[in-house]
Amino acid sequence: SPAPTPRTHHAVVAETTGGPEVLRWTEAEVPRPGPGEVLVRTAAAGLNFIETYQRSGVYDVERPFTPGTEGAGTVVEVGDGVDASLRGTRVATAAGRATYAEHFLAPVDGLLAVPEAVDLADAAALPLQGMTAHYLCRSTFPVEEGQTVVVTAGAGGVGLLLTQLAAARGARVITTASTEAKRELSRAAGAAASVDYAHLRDAVAEATDGAGAHAVFDGVGKDTFEDSLAVLRVRGMLVLFGGASGQVPPLDLQRLNSGGALFVTRPSLAHYTRTAEETRWRGGELFGAWADGRLDVRIGARIPLAEAARAHAALESRATTGKVLLTLD
Ligand code: NDP
Repeated sequence: SPAPTPRTHHAVVAETTGGPEVLRWTEAEVPRPGPGEVLVRTAAAGLNFIETYQRSGVYDVERPFTPGTEGAGTVVEVGDGVDASLRGTRVATAAGRATYAEHFLAPVDGLLAVPEAVDLADAAALPLQGMTAHYLCRSTFPVEEGQTVVVTAGAGGVGLLLTQLAAARGARVITTASTEAKRELSRAAGAAASVDYAHLRDAVAEATDGAGAHAVFDGVGKDTFEDSLAVLRVRGMLVLFGGASGQVPPLDLQRLNSGGALFVTRPSLAHYTRTAEETRWRGGELFGAWADGRLDVRIGARIPLAEAARAHAALESRATTGKVLLTLD
């Protein structure tokens, strides 16, 4: 029979807002699953940009704060109303609570089964950025064959996945990235062109004979928003899904008129994973594609969870590509 769950474990805890150094590896109590929840023994947690916003105070959170909603591992306890046969199964989630820890809680509706072909720790690389890429190009702006779409930060976690998914649907994908090494990665993921941010307007004009892009998927925000609006064709859609460079200032809606009846939306994953069915549809397609080799999930770095501060610093300084996994030994 499995070893009993310990009373305490190690977790990353931030007592205050601040730089990466506020993330401390400390002893904490293991949480207990409530109704509809499971407790997972962590194999790895996924690093996501939102955790830097929460740590630094851009987004409000309660403190002391243990970051993380993404992780993978083995179910070790189930709460009331949860099927006990889930115990011992391999799961991944984007809906966990405080996943930067040796154990974390997750709602059973947010669990994805990890296929045998995928390493359990590596499985933490896909749920959040993968389901984001999926909803952006399947539901927010359903990409169609022959369209031209732009992806900013094309070598990032969401960027590499979104580029593959959109290219697989027959779109011509144009990406931006800050270094030639990143642009090479983006082209290898299926971008028809990958350029420096300063050259996006020219690249889109050239690719579309001046007509513009059908959609722009922009997770960089403040620094790119103007270019993203400018490269859209008449009735094109700007999908603003993040602010890695900062938040976009208020927008005069009249500009959507002068730009050519443009659309702007600001979606987030929670609104596109509203039910267990929707979550499993997205997650199932993604893990299936990974397991049979149709999707390349690039793990750019593996950093021990105890050194989460180093991982945050790398992400914020644009030093990462693909996914950064926070690992336990
Ligand atoms: P990435 O791996 O894409 O890392 C961020 C990248 O943004 C950097 O590597 C960098 O690429 C680019 N960047 C441009 N300007 C800056 C800047 N000033 N500081 C830091 N990075 C910058 O991260 P994720 O894939 O985790 O997330 C990408 C975006 O998507 C984030 O804004 C995140 O908040 C958002 N997101 C939104 C979700 C949603 O549902 N709305 C869900 C998941 C993520 P380069 O060097 O090439 O410019």
